[in-house]
Amino acid sequence: MVQLHDLKFTPFISEAEINAGIEKVAAQINADFGDKTPVFLGVLNGAFLFASEVIKRFKGDCEVNFVKLSSYEGTGTTGNVESLMGITSPLKGRNVVVIEDIVDTGNTLESIDKILKREEVNQYKIATLFYKPASYKKSLPIDYVGMEIPNDFIVGYGLDYNGLGRNLTQVYKLKNSKMTNIVLFGPPGAGKGTQAS
Ligand code: 5GP
Ligand code: MG
Ligand code: MG
Repeated sequence: MVQLHDLKFTPFISEAEINAGIEKVAAQINADFGDKTPVFLGVLNGAFLFASEVIKRFKGDCEVNFVKLSSYEGTGTTGNVESLMGITSPLKGRNVVVIEDIVDTGNTLESIDKILKREEVNQYKIATLFYKPASYKKSLPIDYVGMEIPNDFIVGYGLDYNGLGRNLTQVYKLKNSKMTNIVLFGPPGAGKGTQAS
């Protein structure tokens, strides 16, 4: 058991199971992108460990960017403007592999989808280590999934609870609770205008 802030978490997914998920996704990406010189977009903060493991296993040429999703209120009539912070070269015409830690409702994916379409990439695929099918509300395909999990709130292997737990080498779930009413806090200092997962 581990305690992070006020909450207790119990062991849920072992290092061996995480590794199996990594190997599966890495093999699929190698098969699909081995000769396509993809741009990997690791979505910070949560995906930093998963992204490094997938990228280490990639056999061809590739570029690597770590990005954060940011949104701010536009001054025009369009409302929310979203962008990916951290892209170092144009994505137009490129083959992109987005690397996520977890897909829950799919809101984040939808934002990324919009941005990549706007950037006029040649094609993009989504890889995620964890996926909660019961919570997913969108119809965008999720191309590479390490493992499906139930609707529990998890921490470890990159995923945090209010900033803590990212360094845990296995995954833990919130004790005695289904994730119905948990408020996901951002990191300290994160406020309106910036969102990072
Ligand atoms: P979405 O709902 O947009 O698919 O997921 C948004 C973000 O919520 C994820 O990138 C992740 O930061 C966070 N999230 C969703 N489920 C969990 C979870 O079980 N544990 C943690 N630590 N974060 C989660
Ligand atoms: Mg994420
Ligand atoms: Mg988080």
